[in-house]
Amino acid sequence: MSQLSDIGNIKSILSRYGFSFSKSLGQNFLVNPGVCPRMAEGCGAREGVCALEIGPGIGVLTYELARRADKVAAIELDRRLLPVLEETLGEFSNVTVISGDVMKLDLRQVIQEQFGDKPVCLCANLPYYITSPVIMKVLEEKLPVDSLTVMVQKEAAQRICAEPGSRNVGAVSIAVRYYAQPEMLFQVSRGSFLPPPNVDSAVIRLKIRETPAVSVEDEAFFFQTVKAAFAQRRKTLANSLSAGLAVSKQQALETLAACEIPPNARAEELTMEWFGRLSDALFRKVNCIERG
Ligand code: SAM
Repeated sequence: MSQLSDIGNIKSILSRYGFSFSKSLGQNFLVNPGVCPRMAEGCGAREGVCALEIGPGIGVLTYELARRADKVAAIELDRRLLPVLEETLGEFSNVTVISGDVMKLDLRQVIQEQFGDKPVCLCANLPYYITSPVIMKVLEEKLPVDSLTVMVQKEAAQRICAEPGSRNVGAVSIAVRYYAQPEMLFQVSRGSFLPPPNVDSAVIRLKIRETPAVSVEDEAFFFQTVKAAFAQRRKTLANSLSAGLAVSKQQALETLAACEIPPNARAEELTMEWFGRLSDALFRKVNCIERG
């Protein structure tokens, strides 16, 4: 097939099918032929590995994944794209397109049915309106994938990859880093898409850790602590924690002191280890557990 992600080719396919872009489904299709091969290489698609894609669009990335991986399963919500994908991916026998909403499907079952116990990488140009929910669903459900290589808006990429203690860090950076090692792979300009969005994008890779970055007594409480700490950025940590968790400001201050965290510290200044220690100490306080 001639270059699938060539803009002339894409326009002609879309016009043959009478396709119009849906803004609400985050449909900005890649029309820069250099990007998909880089993403497919970057995600580790190769012999012996399977790839799960979310939102194949007309299949430009799927095509590159199918050339490299043993098997590809691509989940697409927009049913109008199904006949298009049948045409663009017709030459491959190792691709399955699944019609459905990634947020509603049982992804563990999809992975098991499609790939069995083979190693799986997730690779996607994610619709911007569900970037964080998709990433957190895969991480929190501890789905059996080795890595997530995803294109997201540049600002989201910077937030997700921000080091604890740096300016861009937020609750999502800490949550992602708990499960995975994030890495910025490359940036993609807005002109690489049809229609062009208002912002640039970036491809990031999240390599799943074998064990979480810190060991905590209660995972759910750790995430509640992180969320509370970042919920009110202008407040001090003690104020944010007492507003978001069942502790008084005095208890929050005592806990910070016990963890050797300065009383005027802000959430963005804390390391993962500090978050771990803080959440464990608060967990014990909230549940009235004394150190034995
Ligand atoms: N992969 C294509 C590309 O790079 O050109 C398309 C990427 S486009 C940013 C996002 C795709 O996700 C669209 O095809 C859209 O229809 C699909 N999509 C949107 N919401 C979805 C959902 N909840 N579940 C599955 N696919 C979805």
